[in-house]
Amino acid sequence: EPIKIAIDGPAGAGKSTIAQELAKRLKYTYIDTGAMYRGITYEVIKRGIDINDQTAIIELAKKININFVKGDLYIDDVLIKSEIRSNDVSQRVSYIARIPEIREIMVNAQRKIAINQNVVMDGRDIGTNVLVDAQLKLFLTATVEERSRRRYQELKEKSVITSLKEIEEDIKKRDKMDEERSCAPLVMAKDAIKIDTTEKTIEEIIQQIIYLLGE
Ligand code: C5P
Repeated sequence: EPIKIAIDGPAGAGKSTIAQELAKRLKYTYIDTGAMYRGITYEVIKRGIDINDQTAIIELAKKININFVKGDLYIDDVLIKSEIRSNDVSQRVSYIARIPEIREIMVNAQRKIAINQNVVMDGRDIGTNVLVDAQLKLFLTATVEERSRRRYQELKEKSVITSLKEIEEDIKKRDKMDEERSCAPLVMAKDAIKIDTTEKTIEEIIQQIIYLLGE
């Protein structure tokens, strides 16, 4: 039985940084489910599909092939990189992620990935929906100011043009939409362990998780 570690939480709480580092140390596969929702959003924008045209968006999601190869996201065999981190994508992704049919397609793909390998998977509904039987479920949080600062730093390193104010607004809006949607909303799983990352270093958090795994 493969090991599954589920990491959820609001935008910028440190999920991807922690999940990536943890996967590296444990030699597990890291799956960034947010990148999948961003990937479909990027394709919707690229093809000029109206963000409100749910039928066309669902049709597109059924047609294209989104998958991971060695941690990199591919859409129909094209490598997708920081283009999915743009403001355009960030501002629209939660509208697409709330469509039940879109979630069904993504969740099925995510479960399939976790069938035959050890994974660290991060997102919003991993512990509550995608991998309900995960051996360890974590819910990462941090203050909105800290989360905005981190996201700003991360995007600057990826040369994505933005401002701290723009990011804070985006994060608040996305969290609200993700928490209030009817299909698999962002909520902590009952059996998840909450970690407030605001004043912790990456190493402290990793050590805490490794300790929890050994328990
Ligand atoms: O993790 P990231 O911030 O890149 O996720 C982008 C968006 O994708 C989230 O704000 C949310 O709307 C959506 N998402 C989701 N379920 C997941 C992962 C991401 O709805 N498991």
